[in-house]
Amino acid sequence: MAALDPRQRLDAAALHALVSDSPGCAHCAELKAPGWESVPGELGPPLLEAVGTLRDVDDVEPGYEERHEDGTGFWHPRAPIALDGFPYNRASVWRCPQCRRGFLQYTEAGGYYVDHRLRAIDPALIRAPAGT
Ligand SMILES: [Zn+2]
Repeated sequence: MAALDPRQRLDAAALHALVSDSPGCAHCAELKAPGWESVPGELGPPLLEAVGTLRDVDDVEPGYEERHEDGTGFWHPRAPIALDGFPYNRASVWRCPQCRRGFLQYTEAGGYYVDHRLRAIDPALIRAPAGT
């Protein structure tokens, strides 16, 4: 398998291939983030390894449109991971180096604050962009 490149943009198929549906292991058990959870700062090695990004580097201002289904909302643990919707279109992709459970992270930057957020990836919720 090719080396991981944190700058590589992943599509739905690549995302499925890189993360497992593990519910967690001893290494990553402390991370509970079915919806977007605030974390003190971006999490990285040795806890998580970077595997790629969902961001289109040529798109300087990804949209803020959210995609939902079945009454889900932004924080809902069953909200679809819609790769072309906010905030997934600006998220980086990580995984547990032991069990390959996947995680997304993005940083919300307002005028006077930054907020780091983490969400575990349930592969069943991954949605490819419409029309692909
Ligand atoms: Zn793990």
